[in-house]
Amino acid sequence: MASDSPVFIGVDLGATKIVAAALAMDPGKEGVGEVLSQVKGKTPRTAKAKDIVAAIAEAAKSALASAGKPCAGLGIAIPGPLDRAKGLVRYTPNLGLENYPLAQELSAALGMPVVLENDVQAGVLGELVGGALRGCRNAVGVFIGTGIGGGIVINGELYRGSTGSAGEVGHMILMEGGPVCGCGNYGCLEALASRTAMAKDALALAASGKAPAMLDAAGTDFRKYRSSAFEEALEGGDEAVGGVVDRAGFWLGVGLANIVNLLNPEAVVVGGGVTARFGKRLLKAARASMEDRLMTGLAATVRIVQSELGDLAVPTGAAIAARRDLEARRPAGAKEKSAR
Ligand SMILES: [Zn+2]
Repeated sequence: MASDSPVFIGVDLGATKIVAAALAMDPGKEGVGEVLSQVKGKTPRTAKAKDIVAAIAEAAKSALASAGKPCAGLGIAIPGPLDRAKGLVRYTPNLGLENYPLAQELSAALGMPVVLENDVQAGVLGELVGGALRGCRNAVGVFIGTGIGGGIVINGELYRGSTGSAGEVGHMILMEGGPVCGCGNYGCLEALASRTAMAKDALALAASGKAPAMLDAAGTDFRKYRSSAFEEALEGGDEAVGGVVDRAGFWLGVGLANIVNLLNPEAVVVGGGVTARFGKRLLKAARASMEDRLMTGLAATVRIVQSELGDLAVPTGAAIAARRDLEARRPAGAKEKSAR
């Protein structure tokens, strides 16, 4: 069915890895289309913009080569604020890109149009068009990893706010004076329920002998306290680590109650590496805590669901953003033609 559909590349540019996917998108209908190929590469640690551009171009070319088809455009998801209209990356906390014309540079390297999108917004867009939020008019996405990001859908569209930074659910302050957050404040949702927050607690338990399976899985090196290590510790019977997950779930539920009370969404999708590995336990605790705090009757109106697209949510959303932006830029006649 997708043999003649235009192909778009979606790229997720992370602090440690680059994921590029080629998607055939049927012009006649909305949807994520067919994933033709998926390529993973490492993000260079050099923090030189030229090296990052080269690594992205290499991943994109490799995804296209596997797909074996010409490409209509590329969307790239950036972990930081950006100027979409100018194709400019404002700044990235871990990559060293600052006021960098990434769209222009990548476009020159690849010979195709390039569109920028924020990574969390891309993830929400992916889930909205082809994942767990399909068909929703009003919804929220919460993505849990080293930090917590979010995105808001209102009337079927991403809500970006007045300067494009809407959806920072991770920095809702839930415990004034609580643990310090990456943003510099204290007691944010991110400081209470991100994988980083869980890792701090689990490391303390492992070091004091209360989490032997965690100690086996990750030792006492904080950097090894990844989602997979948590999964191993839970499977290995570390009930103390289970308690850490339940506590993060409790705070996630407090955050969800605030979100649902404020926005009355039909659904909230929870994604990120944490949910792929031990989302069931985390979400069970979160639902209970949320329901205790919601306005009367609201609990029955909202679904809390796990991400359906997983690792592909962000590249998929980036490809959709590219397709939409490029179609909107085309003159009306050409748009009409390509839609038939
Ligand atoms: Zn914060």
